[in-house]
Amino acid sequence: GGFQSMGLSYPVFKGIMKKGYKVPTPIQRKTIPAILRGRDVVAMARTGSGKTACFLIPMFERLKAPSQAGARALILSPTRELALQTLKFTKELGKFTGLKTALILGGDKIIATPGRLVHVAVEMKLKLHTVEYVVFDEADRLFEMGFAEQLQEIIARLPDCHQTVLFSATLPKLLVEFARAGLTEPMLIRL
Ligand code: AMP
Repeated sequence: GGFQSMGLSYPVFKGIMKKGYKVPTPIQRKTIPAILRGRDVVAMARTGSGKTACFLIPMFERLKAPSQAGARALILSPTRELALQTLKFTKELGKFTGLKTALILGGDKIIATPGRLVHVAVEMKLKLHTVEYVVFDEADRLFEMGFAEQLQEIIARLPDCHQTVLFSATLPKLLVEFARAGLTEPMLIRL
């Protein structure tokens, strides 16, 4: 199964080709079809495995349907550096999708660190009720950094109907419990 057999729309496929990806990485081959089907997914994947594209490609597919204004996808990163890197990646890979991306505020998608997002959500009344797709990136680090409470708070502000994907290098007990409570019948994917 290559990218061409995943049923991707042309703007998304074109972005993949522009990035120069010829074949999906093993974790991409396992996670992308499941996420495209609408499943909540918990995936064990390290940096360097191609994990970012695993959650970005299905995100673009999901957001291609027009909708009302408001942020439609939320990507939570443990650090500002990773958030910036993911923002750059999203703009490159999503170049032909016409979607707008913003760090912390505005646009169709938000990429943020949890502490900052909760602050922004509370102080500036950022509305999360239009969010359809949520990513916890490097989730073990999000937890190590003591963001658990903020993550619960963010989840509480999401609408009932949303898809959640969680990527993590390791799966400590606390994280498994969080996924069981906050995700809907999550599919566990590891290599
Ligand atoms: P990540 O694990 O998301 O940090 O990605 C690591 C590196 O792999 C990045 O430079 C990506 O652009 C690159 N990459 C992701 N998917 C592919 C692919 N299918 N083929 C080649 N390179 C890829």
